[in-house]
Amino acid sequence: MAKIFCVANQKGGVGKTTTTVNLAAGLAKIGQRVLMVDLDPQGNATMGSGVDKRALELSVYDVLLESASVNEAAVLSEKCGYRVLGANRELAGAEVELVELERRDKRLKAALAQVDAEYDFVLIDCPPSLSMLTLNGLCSAHGVIVPMQCEYFALEGLTDLVNTIKQVHANLNADLQIIGLLRVMFDPRITLQQQVSEQLKGHFGDKVFDTVIPRNVRLAEAPSYGLPGVVFDPAAKGSQAFVEFAQEMVARVQRMAAPKVQAQSASGA
Ligand code: ADP
Ligand code: MG
Repeated sequence: MAKIFCVANQKGGVGKTTTTVNLAAGLAKIGQRVLMVDLDPQGNATMGSGVDKRALELSVYDVLLESASVNEAAVLSEKCGYRVLGANRELAGAEVELVELERRDKRLKAALAQVDAEYDFVLIDCPPSLSMLTLNGLCSAHGVIVPMQCEYFALEGLTDLVNTIKQVHANLNADLQIIGLLRVMFDPRITLQQQVSEQLKGHFGDKVFDTVIPRNVRLAEAPSYGLPGVVFDPAAKGSQAFVEFAQEMVARVQRMAAPKVQAQSASGA
């Protein structure tokens, strides 16, 4: 059964897309079957996975409007080792078109249910807003990965996101939880970043991932080659950190499944 994660943060430029494509590549590298879903009309995660958004015959737009299945619309990125359900500008229109339709917030969830057995991980790159598109992502997911920079206002922005996730959890998707906060673009030489990082740990405890993604220019260069850093330059510090993060995610997923097993054996005893 596929575990589905949204990479979300309503702020732009915080590292959502970088996290999505590099985690996808890192998971593929350690043998996981991965589908990457681009829910941002900018199509950066599509391009950053080596898939030309302008040449897409079918995209996540067609899946949301139920004119194509995930399998029909997804393409394999051979270099990256995962499948891509791509997006382009057409997706911006879906926002308006969906408003008129039934089950408008559960379209992606229904479509992903059909490919559940084919993947270990589905990663959804969300746009920087709480739109109908993001809502489709949150309604589909088991968890949210929140990339964040350790800056002064980071905690403030987080309150809104946490409240939104709580609302979706209460009203639309009882499975949804914050899996973790991922510290990205981290520079340990900056005292403020260390302080905010400590504050985050104090506040959110083990919801803060152990892995820290450093600021690393190779990660920023990779998209212009149509590749995640993990594929473009596997030896780079940032790439290694994302492979480590992929390992941490696999371990977390195993732990997410563990309590149920205990509960069952407890009730059986
Ligand atoms: P978002 O999807 O949240 O808008 P992006 O992933 O596109 O954010 O990242 C914003 C910018 O920061 C991009 O130019 C990206 O290449 C750069 N970037 C992201 N993570 C890192 C990092 N760890 N080190 C250096 N640059 C990074
Ligand atoms: Mg993005």
